[in-house]
Amino acid sequence: MKQSGALVLFSGGQDSTTCLAWALDRFDHVETLGFDYGQRHRIELDCRERLRSALAGMKPHWASRLGEDHTVEIGAIAQVSQCALTQDVEIGMAENGLPNTFVPGRNLIFLTFAAALAYRRGLRHIVGGMCETDFSGYPDCRDDAIKAMQVALNLGMNHRFVLETPLMWIDKAQTWTLAEEIGGAALVDLIHRETHTCYVGERGALHDWGHGCGVCPACKLRADGFARFMAAKSV
Ligand code: ZN
Repeated sequence: MKQSGALVLFSGGQDSTTCLAWALDRFDHVETLGFDYGQRHRIELDCRERLRSALAGMKPHWASRLGEDHTVEIGAIAQVSQCALTQDVEIGMAENGLPNTFVPGRNLIFLTFAAALAYRRGLRHIVGGMCETDFSGYPDCRDDAIKAMQVALNLGMNHRFVLETPLMWIDKAQTWTLAEEIGGAALVDLIHRETHTCYVGERGALHDWGHGCGVCPACKLRADGFARFMAAKSV
């Protein structure tokens, strides 16, 4: 097993792109994993290769560290979800207080597939953009859920994975600050222009906070985070 190898859960959104840069700065060998689970919108997945190439072009040691990209199809998740990302339903809040985009246990499923792949690829670190600060009520983004998952995977696969969640305790504004610390203005600009986080899959115009519909919860979170990041810089 490569002690310093990492597998990054990479959707092509703001959070996972920041995580990929974070991993490229830290680990000798970094591979990426994207999931195709019948999303209504494939825009994020289509952004992935553009972002990977751009990151490799940013620093010579990032280019040499960036390894294979993997895509796993888990269409079965759509059969059990009935949610707004996979059905033609308007985004809203369900009675339990969770967004109706919620796929129960989605991150647990993703991490299990990631660990199986990391096992085969000899990668020790599994990096994900889960965040308890802006977690929108998703219980499988919580730090305790991720730590429990690390224990379960290590017991179940008789292995020593380390689940890394660099965004766990920071908010969306601090995620921009982290990107700036890692890759300077060039990385902030790349994430701003090329990543896509909108729930309704609208790329649309380039707003001052990036692309998206501007009204869905993901766009609002992103716009608010970017505004606070810029305000903190101008003080
Ligand atoms: Zn949106």
